[in-house]
Amino acid sequence: MVKRYRMYIDGQWVDGETGETFQSFNPATGQTIAELPRGTRNDAARAIAAARKGSRIISRMSVWDRSRLCLKIADVMEKRADELARTLAEEQGKPYHTEAKAEVQTAIAGFREAAELVKWLETSFIPVEDPNKRVFTIRQPRGVYAVVTPWNFPINIPVEYLAPGIASGNAIVWVPAPTTSVCAVKLMECLEEAGVPAGVVNLVTGEGPVVGDEIVSNPGTDAVGFTGSSATGRRIAERAAGKPLLLELGGNGPTIIFEDADLEAAAEAVAVGCFFNAGQTCSATEKILVHESVADAVAELLAAKAKQIKVGDPFDPQVTMGPLNNEPTAAKMDRHVQDAIDRGAKLLAGGSRLAELGSPLFYAPTVMAGVPSDSAFSMEESFGPVAPLISFRTEEEALQLADQGDLGLVSSVWTKQMGRAFRCAEAIKTGIVNINEASTYWELHIPFGGASGKRSGIGRLGGKYTLMEMTDLKTISFDISRA
Ligand code: NAD
Repeated sequence: MVKRYRMYIDGQWVDGETGETFQSFNPATGQTIAELPRGTRNDAARAIAAARKGSRIISRMSVWDRSRLCLKIADVMEKRADELARTLAEEQGKPYHTEAKAEVQTAIAGFREAAELVKWLETSFIPVEDPNKRVFTIRQPRGVYAVVTPWNFPINIPVEYLAPGIASGNAIVWVPAPTTSVCAVKLMECLEEAGVPAGVVNLVTGEGPVVGDEIVSNPGTDAVGFTGSSATGRRIAERAAGKPLLLELGGNGPTIIFEDADLEAAAEAVAVGCFFNAGQTCSATEKILVHESVADAVAELLAAKAKQIKVGDPFDPQVTMGPLNNEPTAAKMDRHVQDAIDRGAKLLAGGSRLAELGSPLFYAPTVMAGVPSDSAFSMEESFGPVAPLISFRTEEEALQLADQGDLGLVSSVWTKQMGRAFRCAEAIKTGIVNINEASTYWELHIPFGGASGKRSGIGRLGGKYTLMEMTDLKTISFDISRA
């Protein structure tokens, strides 16, 4: 029996105005999980109107009350953690034991962290020339946030906006990715159970170009938080022109392995970077630049690691990689692998789908050597389980290859030479550089985002940085001689 879920607007679970629905599928089996409302622009506008009311409620709550609300949400999520993790594994496809449970715990920590950090959002009292003036700043919520989220971490990425958004006093209209909308409904249920006041967070399901476009472009929203592809990010920036934007977009994780690196440790980390979440991670390692003298050794180590990965049913305790989430992602893998083969790259592991596992979305962990620097792997984001190796001769060449393409989110450098590590860290045009660590290394509170001049985003997510992004800094001056 297919379940039927609703959207959440103004504290009520509601159908869309047309009554039309779309389906969410289990990517490991192809079976329908649930039906959800296909929202319209009017539904989104209704949610925005509710959020305007919600904004008056949440912005007037004291910081301490909002902090307590975030803690309450974390407690409810903790109580329902297993249900959230099961929904995540079933609908997104990531392994329940090794990844889904951890993602839910990270999201819970996200609410606890926002509850804590918002209490320390101090501002300043500014010395000025005029002896009668007192000038100080305060941080205020921006108002109603339009939040649009992707399907690769469908519990944690929304929380990266919802937790600091609520803590700092914003109301939110949220459009989740259609393929992981049940995850969104379950998370919204936790917020409701924790007592988030009506209108403060509103969930609108449906197609991004319809309901997502409406919430980012409608004058009723004051600011936009978006995580997703660079192409959609650019479109949103145009449609939301003039609003403050927090955009977390694509990357292709250039990773440079110099000849003096600990090759075993590098291969271990690179395998995590390439294959965690079946490669569907914005910080995934997608372009491995290896010094030519160690290229064969690294390729061999990586191929062996790829072959150890057990692909299959996300609920099987032995399984470490599930299916890809959707067909466009799998089709992109097919295209990128074929492009590299056509340009002369050598397949050392995988390279095709594993439809015999029960769904065409299973993809074999893939390792390719001798990948040319003008291939799609080098220039674009692949977003699949692949380790493409490109050889280089000099540090300068490695840096130039790392910078190819228009993405600049996260990179990684492997060397034991301190000077070289620092030179590379400063030169690479990415927002984050991890030295002797996988490109996917990340913690909740560290600033995360793209480099300027690239197409990987605007602004920084993480801990106090998101709180600052989601608030306006207001300057107040006061003349004491006239009071
Ligand atoms: P996507 O851009 O296709 O979709 C993201 C969201 O935008 C979805 O909810 C979608 O419905 C919505 N959307 C689509 N068209 C829209 C439009 N015209 N207006 C408004 N909303 C619209 O991305 P995806 O495939 O869901 O996610 C994968 C991408 O997200 C990858 O590129 C990945 O690198 C990126 N990502 C970035 C980060 C980061 O922190 N930088 C984190 C995770 C994922």
